[in-house]
Amino acid sequence: MSDAYEVAVIGAGPAGYHAAIRAAQLGLKTVCIDRWIDAAGAPVLGGTCLNVGCIPSKALLDASHKFEQARSELKPLGIKTGKVSLDLKTMQDHKTQIVKNLTQGVAGLLKANGVEVQLGSARLDQGNVINVTDNLGVEHQVTAGAVIVAPGSKPIDIGACPMDGDQIVDSTGALAFEAVPKTLGIIGAGVIGLELGSVWSRLGSQVVLLEALPEFLPAADRQLAKAALKLFGEQGLDIRLGATVVNRHQNKGKVELEYSDSDGTHTIAFDRVIVAVGRRPDLAGLCGDGVELKLDERGAIDVDQHCQTSLANVFAVGDAVRGPMLAHKGMEEGIMVAERLAGAKPQVNYDTVPSVIYTHPEIAWVGKSEIELKQEDVPFKVGVFPLAASGRALASSETAGMIKVIAHADSDRILGVHVMAAHGSELIAEAVIAMEFGASAEDLGLTMFAHPTLSEGLHEAALAVSGHAIHIANRKRR
Ligand code: FAD
Ligand code: NAD
Repeated sequence: MSDAYEVAVIGAGPAGYHAAIRAAQLGLKTVCIDRWIDAAGAPVLGGTCLNVGCIPSKALLDASHKFEQARSELKPLGIKTGKVSLDLKTMQDHKTQIVKNLTQGVAGLLKANGVEVQLGSARLDQGNVINVTDNLGVEHQVTAGAVIVAPGSKPIDIGACPMDGDQIVDSTGALAFEAVPKTLGIIGAGVIGLELGSVWSRLGSQVVLLEALPEFLPAADRQLAKAALKLFGEQGLDIRLGATVVNRHQNKGKVELEYSDSDGTHTIAFDRVIVAVGRRPDLAGLCGDGVELKLDERGAIDVDQHCQTSLANVFAVGDAVRGPMLAHKGMEEGIMVAERLAGAKPQVNYDTVPSVIYTHPEIAWVGKSEIELKQEDVPFKVGVFPLAASGRALASSETAGMIKVIAHADSDRILGVHVMAAHGSELIAEAVIAMEFGASAEDLGLTMFAHPTLSEGLHEAALAVSGHAIHIANRKRR
């Protein structure tokens, strides 16, 4: 006999647990099934984001940034610290405790909202029957009127340098190093490469990033990417572009990476290597015999704009479907699907998904870049405000970076905002709100911002679109 639910959610990562909580809040009888087992062998909720993604990486980014500040940035402010040294075990324990608090918090939220949680691996069989195999191997079935599939993603491995879980690791391994590698190679200078490269570089590693593409951060604004590449170099990240790893040898405790670039073939030895070349949907074991979930050309579950799959009453959200692999994008999709199941008609606005790289300064953007607008033949104008001209940035020694507002040349509607700044992840939220409300650059320019704040930089960049910024030299007089 099987248990019957109105909604069954497969996966309790951010996309799945948001879907489950919202469905239960709306009065739907909901079950959420997850198979995650942590490093200590215990089942935990929260998926990649809470266990080995957003949260532990930000805990280490924040702690390593404070270490770096204490070591080298406080003296000019008149703060004497004595010799600063690292206790990596305590830093890692601190990270683990944060993860534990949050994953337990998700379990508490699901319970408080009346979601039933089942621990085990779910397989979608025909007729919306879900076969659940618990961690002891015992199977049972549940049925549901609607199924929301949120199985997430996993790291991509490359043949030239397969991971061994010890010297050659993925992001999960790199979040758990018990000692600071003297030399650290990172394959891929994308989001994970830069964030984890920053962590270990601040803690003392010599970090080299080998990036296959000739261009740095192609999805980011070109002006910002160029400035970021220079700054990260000054911070100690050795970023080599156009570098393709062709082979690896493990020799006397070192990993020798052989890579080729426009100058030929090179070999470089590291104590440890992180492979950070992207992630792919994790669909292992998801579909039973005869269940044919259509996939797109990238191997993601094919969905329409409302996350409907090719199967009736089966929806898919989060990293397993098209779009950026970001926690907040999955969360909004989960909520949208739950609300649509309850009869409402919300949409996700995919034009205003913010992206953030949590380096220091942070790089964040929303909407279109200048290159995209040129490709689409959309006329635009640009306002840029360098943080070096911000009183608050100067007062808090955070002058690196800039804020750029791009608006339509005729309507003045904001089309994109690009930020490289301390707290860029917070600043970009202001731009997302403005764009959600269809604001023009003039609207932002007419809005009052508290002084002194970094947010004033957004105000000034919006004013700069029409040449009216106060704190930078403008040519326009009216
Ligand atoms: P996941 O979080 O991957 O959750 C999927 C869940 O489904 C898992 O718990 C898994 O056990 C479960 N599952 C899968 N298949 C089954 C099955 N058949 N049966 C039962 N359970 C199943 N994003 C950001 O927005 N900001 C960040 O700062 C950020 N930092 C990151 C840092 C790192 C190092 C990494 C790796 C990722 C980061 N991300 C970040 C990306 C973010 O983690 C993902 O976008 C997000 O977790 C995706 O959510 P999801 O719910 O789709 O999938
Ligand atoms: P990514 O796509 O950001 O970067 C991968 C990089 O590796 C790219 O620059 C790519 O050109 C390069 N690459 C690919 N194959 C290569 C090869 N063989 N040799 C050298 N370079 C190669 O992917 P990621 O950094 O692995 O992150 C995975 C996902 O996790 C991303 O989609 C990202 O959105 C998400 N994530 C988000 C955050 C955040 O929001 N701050 C943080 C971490 C991860």
